[in-house]
Amino acid sequence: MKSALKTYQDHTTEAFVEKWKALWKLKIHERYKILIWRIANGILPTRLTMAQKVGLGDTICPFCRGCEELIDHLFFKCSVSRALWFGTSWAIQSCHLTVLNYEDILQLIIEPHVVSNTTLDMQRLREQTSIQIATTLDSIWNLRNQVVHQDYKFNILVIIKNLESRILEHFHVLEESDSIVDTPIRGMERWKPPDAGIVKLNVDAAFGNGKFTVAVVARNHQGSILKV
Ligand SMILES: [Zn+2]
Repeated sequence: MKSALKTYQDHTTEAFVEKWKALWKLKIHERYKILIWRIANGILPTRLTMAQKVGLGDTICPFCRGCEELIDHLFFKCSVSRALWFGTSWAIQSCHLTVLNYEDILQLIIEPHVVSNTTLDMQRLREQTSIQIATTLDSIWNLRNQVVHQDYKFNILVIIKNLESRILEHFHVLEESDSIVDTPIRGMERWKPPDAGIVKLNVDAAFGNGKFTVAVVARNHQGSILKV
């Protein structure tokens, strides 16, 4: 089994580092950045990735069950994903997006190709497009996880409506954040310590280098790390 997409071969090149810097600077939810990071490093635990590491297991796309769960299929070419991209007001035809490798996905987010014949601010248009793409990828991944882990039976129209609402809310938050200096964007707040006596856990998981890794950071009310 081989993935159609390639990961970065050299993670130390200047160009690579610059791309990551650009990703972390984007005005999008931190969770989206982590998702893009996992995709671009080829460590998103899709069925195919897991089966490649373990040597066995179901590799079929949980949405259509007609193709292997490759990254480009899952996020751009599957009938369900295409419906999500195309179903919102922006009607994106995801199968026409140029995604030949993982780097292209990162590029889509940090430097989306936007064309406008209006007087709209191009920088703002790019920011909105980054939000739109990142939110859609996040929505697809969340839906996929619900289907895989909870056998979730979904109504595609409801999913599309929710996705559109999330994108528009994110646009609105972006507008608001520009009018208030140094105020974190809602939903992208910096980490806050818990109340006294409470231990707060931040959790993330990744599959890579043959190991499934769960990172847990425990902090007390003073923000001190108790255990990692
Ligand atoms: Zn599919």
